[in-house]
Amino acid sequence: MQPLKYLGGYPPQVLEQVRELIAQDRLGALLSAKYREAHAVRNDGQLYAYVQALKERHMRKAAPLGKVLYDGRLQVLGHTLGTHTTISRVQGSRLKASREIRIASVFRDAPAAFLRMIVVHELAHMKEAEHNRAFYQLCTHMEPDYHQLEFDLRLYLTWLESRSPVPAPG
Ligand SMILES: [Zn+2]
Repeated sequence: MQPLKYLGGYPPQVLEQVRELIAQDRLGALLSAKYREAHAVRNDGQLYAYVQALKERHMRKAAPLGKVLYDGRLQVLGHTLGTHTTISRVQGSRLKASREIRIASVFRDAPAAFLRMIVVHELAHMKEAEHNRAFYQLCTHMEPDYHQLEFDLRLYLTWLESRSPVPAPG
């Protein structure tokens, strides 16, 4: 059975539904029907402008942005979202690096709503290092639909991986 690593911590009924959608090859169609809008943020310069605009709107008082870039080596689960859990944990050097925003390059081709969600997530980390209540309050302040978007992003990443399984070695 597929482990569904992006959905760790979600209830078994939810995972069962997701597995069924994948087995019936319906997950991708469902997501693309819901998230039709693409974005035009193609390079690091455009990404900087995009992040800066959101920051101006919602977090004007936070420290100025440092570097903003797409990072091809960034793992969304390990570096960004963490696993879905209420236990908060400090993310290593997060505070020191908080002015630099790296966005996994999978978002370059993702629907517009998912890019917005992940930028909101990273902006919130400029104030809150951990995935705690204050952090998620900031996220929903910037994007009222944040929790639904994060769940749907996890579905999207699950779907991407289900399409391109890692080939068996040898
Ligand atoms: Zn995070």
